[in-house]
Amino acid sequence: MTGYFSSLKLPDATSEFKESRYVIFGAPFDGTSSYRKGSKLAPNAVRVAYDNLESFDPRYSFDFSEAGICDLGDLQEESTVDEMVESVEMVTGIIRKEAKIPIMLGGEHAVTVGAIRNFKDCGMIIIDAHSDFRDSYHGNRLNHACVTRRSLEVLGPDRIVSIGTRSTSMEEYESDEFRKVRFITSDEVREKGIKSIVSEVRRIVGDRIYFSIDMDGIDPAYAPAVGTPEPYGLKDTDVRFLVNEFSRNTFGFDIVEFSPQFDNGNTAMLAAKIIQDFIGSRK
Ligand code: MN
Ligand code: MN
Repeated sequence: MTGYFSSLKLPDATSEFKESRYVIFGAPFDGTSSYRKGSKLAPNAVRVAYDNLESFDPRYSFDFSEAGICDLGDLQEESTVDEMVESVEMVTGIIRKEAKIPIMLGGEHAVTVGAIRNFKDCGMIIIDAHSDFRDSYHGNRLNHACVTRRSLEVLGPDRIVSIGTRSTSMEEYESDEFRKVRFITSDEVREKGIKSIVSEVRRIVGDRIYFSIDMDGIDPAYAPAVGTPEPYGLKDTDVRFLVNEFSRNTFGFDIVEFSPQFDNGNTAMLAAKIIQDFIGSRK
């Protein structure tokens, strides 16, 4: 696959593909983003921020340079969402076939559709402000506003939990399909506490999970630089808790919808730290 990817690498990515446990790659695409584009710039912004984290984290007593991370760099940016999703599907498939854990840096949320096609044996946890449950948006079924709906078609009913929801159209809300995904609102998390949802999430997603983090699920106070910000979101530590809780059952992971040009630096840092939280709690 050499030559297919760009060259900037995550500093702790000290492994070659063959020996690695975790395979990072960027999916720079923001072609269907409806509001604030720029998520195609996110993969390298996360790598640059990561460079300012310690390789060691006492929370996990773990040194990430020994984690077995390979960074393939970025996929080529395709001109259409169909091509980009196909490209992600292919690369994720290769990584999974080698029994490694893909960690994809989006790009907009649409790229997750390519990844999830390789995880038909898994349940899915999504962190997102939006239900992303439109059947089609702006004439495109692969629009980033349709990700949960497409994932439901791949995985089937009662296997997906989306956490942090606070934005849904009436059309989505009133569809029968909507009940086939468990949407846990950010208000529900705030009222009941993040720990209270664990057993229900576990029952729905099972013990094999694909975990997708749309950064806008987190409150804009912590993650201001996203394509479509939405007030009243999850706390950063809520998301860290969920990542820690479910990481050992997670076989594919992504962080999407970060738009670096709107950042004060915090969103990039949080995205970089979430990668460490995922790997550190899995060790
Ligand atoms: Mn989304
Ligand atoms: Mn969203």
